[in-house]
Amino acid sequence: MTPLAMIHLDIADLDRIEAAGVTAYPDECCGLLIGHDIDDGGIEVVRVAMSENVEPGDRRSRFEIDPRLLIALRRDLRGARDRIVGHYHSHPDHPARPSAHDAERAWEPEMVWLITAVIGGEAVETTAHVLEDGGGGFRQIGLQITGKAPGG
Ligand SMILES: [Zn+2]
Repeated sequence: MTPLAMIHLDIADLDRIEAAGVTAYPDECCGLLIGHDIDDGGIEVVRVAMSENVEPGDRRSRFEIDPRLLIALRRDLRGARDRIVGHYHSHPDHPARPSAHDAERAWEPEMVWLITAVIGGEAVETTAHVLEDGGGGFRQIGLQITGKAPGG
């Protein structure tokens, strides 16, 4: 299998993710990405499921996706073409790069990590990453934005 190189995300979903990061600021936002493999070997996101950040500690630098959302989605998607392909979270006043803490708690190596940097309350950059096989840390992949901006 060729390593994943690209994730496709509709601009409306990107807007939702970045808006969630702005709303949650200075805390981290988080949620799940639902999608499927496409012919070019990449992944297409078809739906974004927002989660409450249920991290019991410092939500300014930590996130935890609501496990009830995960369970409900897995149940909904049973037998479907779509699956949970990854998740997103924001980095308040930090770059859109996986942190050391992210690397420590990385789970499910096939998951795509979307990270939005929210600097001073404004979403400035969103990037996509996957875990290298064999625990070599994160590798950035392409984020292809599809669709049209509202009014554009
Ligand atoms: Zn992080």
